[in-house]
Amino acid sequence: MENENSKTTENKNVVKSLDSKLDNTNENQQSGNSSNFRKPRRRYPSNRRYPKSPRKTENASESPKSKFPFSRISILVPLFNEEESLAKLTKQVSDVFNNIKTDYEILFVDDGSVDNSLKVIKDLARTNNKIRYISFRKNYGKSAALNIGFKNVTGDVVITMDADLQDDPGEIPNLLHELQKGYDLVSGWKKKRHDPFIKKYSSRFFNYVTKVMSGIKIHDFNCGLKAYRKNVVKTIDVHGELHRYIPVLADWKGFKISEVVVKHHPRKYGKTKFGISRFFKGFIDLITVIFTTRYIQRPLHFFGMLGVASFLIGFVIDAYLSILWFLHEINLSNRPILFLGTVLIIVGVQLFSLGLIGEMLVHNDKKEDNYGIKEKKLKTANPKEQK
Ligand code: UDP
Ligand code: MG
Repeated sequence: MENENSKTTENKNVVKSLDSKLDNTNENQQSGNSSNFRKPRRRYPSNRRYPKSPRKTENASESPKSKFPFSRISILVPLFNEEESLAKLTKQVSDVFNNIKTDYEILFVDDGSVDNSLKVIKDLARTNNKIRYISFRKNYGKSAALNIGFKNVTGDVVITMDADLQDDPGEIPNLLHELQKGYDLVSGWKKKRHDPFIKKYSSRFFNYVTKVMSGIKIHDFNCGLKAYRKNVVKTIDVHGELHRYIPVLADWKGFKISEVVVKHHPRKYGKTKFGISRFFKGFIDLITVIFTTRYIQRPLHFFGMLGVASFLIGFVIDAYLSILWFLHEINLSNRPILFLGTVLIIVGVQLFSLGLIGEMLVHNDKKEDNYGIKEKKLKTANPKEQK
């Protein structure tokens, strides 16, 4: 696993160093800074037009045709057994970008698919240099897939969408328009949702509770279709099952959030990966998200407060009984409340200790990218990592 990680870092460094080499060469050429090294000029016949620099055409921010002031947009697609829809999705995305004329990449994160998804992606990548991919050795879940995708996207804007064609790539321009207004995260709202009854209503319930608990005024926290500015995805950590509460995580970090209504389609191929169990997991997730957003950096405040309260109540009960015993010599063996007091004191100390251990973990454990990566393709024809 460590080996994998060091390889991953090595690969990144290779990509980075390649990028910086490209950038330096470009800068030198553009600024004419050639005091030490002058490249021999290529000569073209005067009646022939000079070929355009590929850098300039690919960097859409410099292109007057681009409809948005973004240099590169990353489409991040987490997927688990979605072989049937990938080619169609790629086609729909490229149609959208042919229209808006902004540079883009598609990063597929294959979350340990056991069907032909990876093969399909590789076949697509052979003829389409916009496609990059990462493939997990096993199924880690949508949050893990998004998280590693977030770490590896190179665009200054990232759009996440599900692979099953339920999200409509045609909504990309609407999300970008909203982002352009100055928001950091724009979440889709599947106002007219094409999902089974139970899923629709359980989701509505959780959205309502999350809205009340978090104070964020959006309707659909768990929409797969979202647009982010780069610094949002490089800041938040999506682990466990927290992809359902990304707006809460982003809000907690102080990012500005908005919402736009998006089209939603029924699932045509394959089947949903989140069944009825999501209803029960939802509660646990909600507790997790409240804990992680409010107390993850200060667990002692949470456990410590409970611990101190429990300890104090137990202490008062037992102190009262001790005084009775001491002053009035009342026999304590028939006072069951003595046990309650003792238990509360012990529980209080335990909770406090738990908080202290939590504090130690928070301060020491910053490493969370322990995914076993089977293989990946992270370089496109024009790799450009923007800072
Ligand atoms: N997904 C994933 N890993 C998982 C489960 C799902 O990457 O463990 C992907 C899935 O392939 C799809 C997206 O997450 O692209 C949303 O999943 P799904 O469509 O099953 O969820 P639903 O739309 O039913 O809520
Ligand atoms: Mg779906």
